[in-house]
Amino acid sequence: MNYKEQDPKLWQAISQEQDRQQHNIELIASENIVSPAVRAAQGSVLTNKYAEGYPAKRYYGGNEFIDVVENLAIKRAEELFHAEYVNVQPHSGSQANQAAYAAFLKPGDTILGMGLEAGGHLTHGAQVNFSGKLYHAYGYGLNPETELLDYDMIRDLALKVKPQMIVAGASAYSRIIDWQAFRAITDEVGAYLMVDMAHIAGLVAAGLHPSPVGIADVVTTTTHKTLRGPRGGLILSQAKYAKQINSAVFPGTQGGPLEHVIAAKAVALHEDLQPAFKGYAAQIIKNAQVMAAVFKAADKVRVVSGGTDNHLLTLDISQTDLNGKQAQELLDSVMITANKEAIPNEKRSPFKTSGVRIGTPAITTRGFKEDDARQVARLIVTAIENYDDEAVLEQVRHGVRTLTDAHPISACVAPITFG
Ligand code: PLP
Repeated sequence: MNYKEQDPKLWQAISQEQDRQQHNIELIASENIVSPAVRAAQGSVLTNKYAEGYPAKRYYGGNEFIDVVENLAIKRAEELFHAEYVNVQPHSGSQANQAAYAAFLKPGDTILGMGLEAGGHLTHGAQVNFSGKLYHAYGYGLNPETELLDYDMIRDLALKVKPQMIVAGASAYSRIIDWQAFRAITDEVGAYLMVDMAHIAGLVAAGLHPSPVGIADVVTTTTHKTLRGPRGGLILSQAKYAKQINSAVFPGTQGGPLEHVIAAKAVALHEDLQPAFKGYAAQIIKNAQVMAAVFKAADKVRVVSGGTDNHLLTLDISQTDLNGKQAQELLDSVMITANKEAIPNEKRSPFKTSGVRIGTPAITTRGFKEDDARQVARLIVTAIENYDDEAVLEQVRHGVRTLTDAHPISACVAPITFG
């Protein structure tokens, strides 16, 4: 008996998810499609091994090959981001952030991060998250006029609340972030600067967004978004902080590292170092920009901040009959996957919102180019404008099917070569 026969319910759900991924247009800005090699490493025998500690300093025996794997991941991440030091063990972006705080702060210290409603992440100080419970957290927002980060406003707030750490980086911000401006503010108030580059790490790796490495005291990222690796996290910093960050990860906040995931990170980082990855990252931005242009030309939707410099944009749909939740459900019904998002000066609750966040990393991996991306944006506008016309929605579904059939997932990630 094979495993599919042993556990048919589970394997059916997995195969249905595979079909969903093939037949839906994936626009969740934090998602991507990994290569077969990344999946192979993650599904490997490395999952069987305990490796508490760090290379050459493990608590259990039998780690000679595990050390090779983890050292490869570390070396590749250091090379990709020109970092003096990298910890590849965080199980997720949230755990990377938890460890980064723990390395530099004590409970009760003050942090200043981007507010959740403005586009920050839960772990940047939201009250429902450990970061808002363990630390005194303040949130900065966007300039209500420009819908951009306003470094004068952030400076004024920092002078007022005197944080021990300022957190830069976002989950929904479509413009270039000025790390040097954040550095100047942290220097003025005597705080540490942490940058969470989870969303844009792939663009940073490709040189298409300025790098925070070398400017911030500590940089965290996920590995599964624009970096196109397995779900997980990384922490990058200067060599002088290596010891305190290592202890904050293990034994501070984690036990045994997920070496199968670390191997998959090593595969992805190798892929990210190839010249082709730069082309991929550039295409992500081109696709987002042509979509923004289609949305800007539409009557009832608006692009927050007027456009995008990166992989995502937020659509303001407050002039339509739909809220963000309804738009997300409508798009689901036509096989387009995106998520509701708060807009600046949001009037609705976080459960409804007036916006939709759209991201291009996954469709770009599938091979969508500008014409395809424009077509996706047109399909979204058509669906939103005709949300109650089933015949039009059926045409949208047909348009989605044409695009997904033209770009099968199985063909989308080129095999990699190891030099
Ligand atoms: N940081 C940012 C900016 C994010 O957008 C996210 C997730 O979307 C995270 C951290 C957390 O990552 P994870 O879901 O792996 O905990």
